[in-house]
Amino acid sequence: MSFSLSTHHENLQAFLNDRAPHQPEFHQAVEEVMADIKPIIDQSEPYKKANVFERLVEPERVISFQVAWQNDAGAVEVNRGYRVQFNGAIGAYKGGLRFHPTVNPSVLKFLAFEQTFKNALTGLPMGGAKGGSDFDPTGRSDAEIMRFCTAFMQELHRHIGPDIDVPAGDINVGAREIGYLFGAYRRIQGKFEGILTGKGEAFAGSAMRTEATGYGVMYFLSDMLKSHDDSIDGKTIIISGAGNVATYAAEKAVALGAKVISLSDSSGFVYDADGLTQEKIDWVRAHKAKAGASLAAYVDAFGGKWAKGETPWSLKADIAAPCATQNELGKQDAKTLAKNGIKAVIEGANMPTTADAKKVLSDKDILFAPGKAANAGGVAVSGLEISQNRQRQSSGPDEVDNALQNIMSDIHASCVAEGQKDGKVDYAKGANIAGFRKVADAMVAQGVG
Ligand code: GLU
Repeated sequence: MSFSLSTHHENLQAFLNDRAPHQPEFHQAVEEVMADIKPIIDQSEPYKKANVFERLVEPERVISFQVAWQNDAGAVEVNRGYRVQFNGAIGAYKGGLRFHPTVNPSVLKFLAFEQTFKNALTGLPMGGAKGGSDFDPTGRSDAEIMRFCTAFMQELHRHIGPDIDVPAGDINVGAREIGYLFGAYRRIQGKFEGILTGKGEAFAGSAMRTEATGYGVMYFLSDMLKSHDDSIDGKTIIISGAGNVATYAAEKAVALGAKVISLSDSSGFVYDADGLTQEKIDWVRAHKAKAGASLAAYVDAFGGKWAKGETPWSLKADIAAPCATQNELGKQDAKTLAKNGIKAVIEGANMPTTADAKKVLSDKDILFAPGKAANAGGVAVSGLEISQNRQRQSSGPDEVDNALQNIMSDIHASCVAEGQKDGKVDYAKGANIAGFRKVADAMVAQGVG
């Protein structure tokens, strides 16, 4: 793919190798988006003149900082904290915080880049950002989590604000961590303001924010199947992950009449041929909230099979919903799913499907819903939380759930409108183009300094 670059680089790969060396996840995310939007840029004089391509792949700001904190033994540990403020053309920066040993500039740049398009797709005025730390919370005490969050906010507070950047949760950052982070900000700044979303409902959080990402995934799947004269009812679904996204996706899928036969964590996956129930899902949530708990204990509680160290893609089902983490579904997995007759793959996590795997799925005409569209429900309800905070009021769960369903339907419609390809819908292309247009138009209109 050759771009009319202002630099000497011959193609996108050479450009990325030079401008963002050793950042494979970031390259992967950019290459995937650029394949779809290059023709749009090439046909637009304003986009070319404003050099939207080079500006879109360069974060507006990357903040890296030291987080020094004291563990329970009294020793001082040092982690690295980050905030990548990628693109603020359509609104204040917005995106989650992730605490995981795999967090590094490449991962956060890919996530913030994806977030820029995802946030644009929601139709709400939010720019794209992401942040977090290489801190591993596994097995840490509650007091250690609190001290870490406080130390993290000691630096982050100077870079965020209701009109600047409003972070939220992501992997290993849930209601508890958001509470500690919010408390730290309030003590440091002496202000109660909407600088984080995913807050507890007792302190200006929105109803349904916890459920939103997982529910939204199933609303999107429902729309996608409906537009193919099909429905979720009666479908067998493989879900990976056991966190917020996975468990609420499972809950909504079961409520819509599907049979969910798996969940997974970093230690393996559970296969439950009878299907998950609300009781089993509630148990998983309570169990996983305990420090260092493995999903293996599921089979002691409910039966089923535990596959240590494996991923669930070998199971036979109608739908696969990867809801764990990036690049968890590879080429071989996609081949196995295809062989077993999978009808659709819907991404609950961010970029869980590798580029090779996506190619296998598209060659076999398997429906594919990209994360930036399918999992946008979380950040969409975050956007509603920001509005509620601005107006100092709160909406009830039904109102938020209705708004979420409408937003997911609008995102689905945008994907269909922009994703036409050979008489079919390419959802990834549709999501990339629809998100891109909004951001690029705002960039052109705002000029450069
Ligand atoms: N981390 C979530 C995501 O990947 C939510 C971000 C937010 O609510 O700001 O979209």
